[in-house]
Amino acid sequence: MTLDPEYNFELRKLEARGVYWSLAAQVRAPVCDGGFALAQDEHGYWLAPPGCRQVSWTVDTPVVQDGEFDVSSQASRLLLKAEWALLSEPSSLLRLVNGSTGHDTLRAGDAHTSVLGATPAAQGHWQLPASDSAPEFFIVGTPRIEPRQVGDFSVRYVADDWPRVGRLELLSAHEKALRYLGEVVYGAAEVPENARSLMVVWVGIDAQHGRAGGAAGERSFLANYVIGDAANARHHRAATFMILAHEQFHQLANARRGQLPALPAWVNESLAQYYGLRAMHRAIDDEVAVARLTQRFIAPSRPVEHRFAEIEALFASDRPRALELAYHQGAAFWSELDRTLQMVSGGKTTLDQYIPGLLQMTFPEDGRLPDAFLAQLREWKDPRVEHVISDYL
Ligand SMILES: [Zn+2]
Repeated sequence: MTLDPEYNFELRKLEARGVYWSLAAQVRAPVCDGGFALAQDEHGYWLAPPGCRQVSWTVDTPVVQDGEFDVSSQASRLLLKAEWALLSEPSSLLRLVNGSTGHDTLRAGDAHTSVLGATPAAQGHWQLPASDSAPEFFIVGTPRIEPRQVGDFSVRYVADDWPRVGRLELLSAHEKALRYLGEVVYGAAEVPENARSLMVVWVGIDAQHGRAGGAAGERSFLANYVIGDAANARHHRAATFMILAHEQFHQLANARRGQLPALPAWVNESLAQYYGLRAMHRAIDDEVAVARLTQRFIAPSRPVEHRFAEIEALFASDRPRALELAYHQGAAFWSELDRTLQMVSGGKTTLDQYIPGLLQMTFPEDGRLPDAFLAQLREWKDPRVEHVISDYL
């Protein structure tokens, strides 16, 4: 890490910012200008003293066997099967505390190393996110890259095992999901130039781990796909697509919000879940698997257990429970609202038309929906819409 010489007379604090969202830091033994070891203060910040120009460190990157990597851990790993390493920016890169503006870049340190990211910057550099942005992921090594143009988006696909990814038809499923979700998130608005370049990384996980994970970054995202357990392959495949689309929605919604404050967690997670299911439906044609998975999350007859403001508060104290409520009750709310809008409009209006506007709104801090959004819904002056609002909100 080359420090900005303009601030060379100051003490600078460095950290792996993922520790704020409970990631284990993978930074080991940082040193200044190839010489002395950096000290760490009582808050865990590494201290670069005045005059220090360059900080270097080791990224502790454990090796994982095929099928053993749950990518939702957002950790750097060396994938034995793929012979490349996933580099997780939030856990592995030291950044200036609160000082990373989004102008920082990453490049390989020598000619023998290859680094791949989502957004190219000048001369072999890749864009690093600002300190208040979503994480970013990089590949170190030389994977086979599948480039695709999907509407406005240029996507680089990377996989740990292309034949497996090919058999599951993940590439075409993702293209369909991205096309649809891009329309939902941006509507008629143009996708900004700096949001058009994406990287998708696929990693197989063995069915015995019970679930496939995902992690949405600023412009990159990671998705597990399930391997093994051939008897239930069609259901694993549907779940893989749902997770893929869920993460893709997060990535697009993050980019769409840009500098606006983050969405309330329940809104972010429930919209990602609802549109993850919708996109899965469009991407695969296996009615049985799609219906079974959808019903697991969306059951309008299930009693409404909590107000969304309560669920929002729960994210701080019991995140797993809050997520479960957002995935089920939250997704059911959007589904009911969507169904009702289609009903009252005679099929002319869907929830999709409200999403680009909703993603640009300011949200109250207590987890309620913006008054401006509720006012839009109430323009229908229809008791069925009121019913959904009062049932869930
Ligand atoms: Zn999510």
